Amino acid sequence: MDHRPFEDWLLDNQTLTVDEERQLNAHLQGCPSCTALAEVNLALKMVKMAVPAAGFSDRFQVRLVAQKKALRRRNFWGFTLLALSALSVLTLIAWPVITGLLHSPVELLASWISSLLSLWAAFQAMTHAGLVLFKVIPDFIPAYIWTIVLFAACGWSLLWVLSLIKFTKFPQGV
Ligand SMILES: [Zn+2]
Repeated sequence: MDHRPFEDWLLDNQTLTVDEERQLNAHLQGCPSCTALAEVNLALKMVKMAVPAAGFSDRFQVRLVAQKKALRRRNFWGFTLLALSALSVLTLIAWPVITGLLHSPVELLASWISSLLSLWAAFQAMTHAGLVLFKVIPDFIPAYIWTIVLFAACGWSLLWVLSLIKFTKFPQGV
């Protein structure tokens, strides 16, 4: 079926002459496709644009600002909590070292040196015995080395979290 020029008339919303209107009506009688088009046209003409309630955009802005503020506050407290817990964990781990250092620095130094010496002796003994090194590492490496490693790990993860917070602090758009 040839829908021209009826389709164009409907799509362009053209003003039709009486004769054209008669032709269109005749075509619509036998053409479901153009009838559907005409119905959509009619429906679109009936629809009124919805108007937002008074003060809608003002209220929206206020709510947006409040949400951003709440988000920032939540980030701040989350970060503070994280920093505090990380700090307490670090203190807990490093406490023996700190107290030892405060009470008797010389003694601690001596014990570190003796640990290093025993480490060296153990290493030599192991090399002589032909043992596999990595299997015995946890036994003879003194605790303070693990503490240093933990410190470094905590520092790195803290930096990582900081960068995350920095990059996600201000959400874009709405
Ligand atoms: Zn048609």
